[in-house]
Amino acid sequence: MTKLHKAYIGGQWLAGNQGSFEVDDPATGEIVAKVADVSLEQVEQAIEAAHQAFGSWRRLSAQERADLLLAWYHKVGENRQRLAEVITLESGKPIAEALSEVDYGASYLRWYAEEAVRANGRTLPTLPGGRRPMTLKQPVGVVGVITPWNFPLAMIARKVAPALAAGCTLVIKPAAETPLTALLLTGLAEEAGLPPGVINLVPGTDAATIGHRLCTHPKVRKLSFTGSTAVGRILMAQSASGIQRLSLELGGNAPFLVFDDANLEAAVEGLIASKFRNSGQTCVCANRILVQRGIYDPFIRRLKTRMASLTLGPGSLPGADLGPLISDRAIARVESLVDQALEAGAVKTLGAGRVGEASRYYSPTLLESVTPQNPIWSQEIFGPVVTVTPFDTEEEGIALANHTEAGLASYLFSDTLSRAMRVAESLDYGMVGINEGIISSATAPFGGIKSSGLGREGGQEGLDEYLETKYLCLGGMG
Ligand code: NAP
Repeated sequence: MTKLHKAYIGGQWLAGNQGSFEVDDPATGEIVAKVADVSLEQVEQAIEAAHQAFGSWRRLSAQERADLLLAWYHKVGENRQRLAEVITLESGKPIAEALSEVDYGASYLRWYAEEAVRANGRTLPTLPGGRRPMTLKQPVGVVGVITPWNFPLAMIARKVAPALAAGCTLVIKPAAETPLTALLLTGLAEEAGLPPGVINLVPGTDAATIGHRLCTHPKVRKLSFTGSTAVGRILMAQSASGIQRLSLELGGNAPFLVFDDANLEAAVEGLIASKFRNSGQTCVCANRILVQRGIYDPFIRRLKTRMASLTLGPGSLPGADLGPLISDRAIARVESLVDQALEAGAVKTLGAGRVGEASRYYSPTLLESVTPQNPIWSQEIFGPVVTVTPFDTEEEGIALANHTEAGLASYLFSDTLSRAMRVAESLDYGMVGINEGIISSATAPFGGIKSSGLGREGGQEGLDEYLETKYLCLGGMG
């Protein structure tokens, strides 16, 4: 086992006390690595290491922390191709998407390096009696991080960069499907000079036990989770015992509204970009396509032509638009969702299902006549399946868009500014793409409302998630 297959705790690369677990290549199903499987004791050791390191990390000047984050950013840049190849190997996504994930993840390291020096408190107007009030911004403490497989690098970078900038230390549990990218990224942090204990990585298969400890250990002051709403609910309940701070980036069910006055070409391209990234396996993928009746037929014609042009293939194949789905379980789930949707009255007008018997490739599929009563309406599809529903009026489109428990991303296409603003303000979502299918950026607050979670990643808001505001009142000032 090489160093980059081991757990990283207190600056040491350690074998797992529970042995190892296998990581496969979704394109072939072949085992490509065995990675340390940590025990509960090792998770506790990692929490202790993070707690020890917190004392000195928080006392570094903001500029010193910023310099270390920038050094890590440059290491990631130097290893861009290698990181992208590992992302493709274990997640299956096309290499072009993996390269853009590296750039996107790295942008958080740079942005929060720049932001670290701006965690300012305030001085407030003098109070009666000559008292002087002021606020300080201080790091929350040790942070537990749990991330999913669909962006194995970026989902970690989005949390770790602001946490480090704020002065927090971390224990990270990556998804069991994609620990290799997390290990390589952590190795680069070590090379960049991050002190031992500041970042600890605990790969493992017993997610429930690791998660429980990260939620309930008194030295872990915050948990930041990205993943499914079902697991988010469990973690939120567990965190209640210690009144732990929480950031939850959970599942979405994004509506994609196309109005009669939309630029059709832009709308179809926006939909292709939003829906088919990572073969439909992102939390912000368009999930319910709502098309106004007046342009329904031309929109569907263009969309079909464009979907039929998408190429499936291993992520390592240059030019592949869609890679395999992450696991056998994932493709079986998509098959079953489509079967249920068809039984409930949806009409398949494009798509050939699974490509090859045992493969994880699913061909781009178009389902029309999907109604809110269809079970697929309320599910996050997580596959390359487009569901379409027509609507007549703006009010009806908005009501259909908001008819879900989720509230992460939403999209609308319209060339009328007043309508675009009116609809954007009426959508019950944390994010709205207006004439745009790809919206995430290190500078902007990413996150959801309703069952899609709590908190924001990116922007000034992303730093605040890792800071406490302390109020000081200076008396006796004359
Ligand atoms: P998941 O099953 O919730 O897994 C996510 C992470 O949680 C993995 O590390 C997993 O570990 C761990 N986990 C599983 N059960 C746990 C438990 N009982 N306690 C603690 N941790 C546990 O989600 P997924 O299927 O991998 O990812 C897809 C979901 O993530 C989708 O719903 C998607 O929308 C959401 N997502 C949201 C965002 C966002 O920013 N809002 C971004 C990306 C993805 P193992 O891998 O070891 O099982």
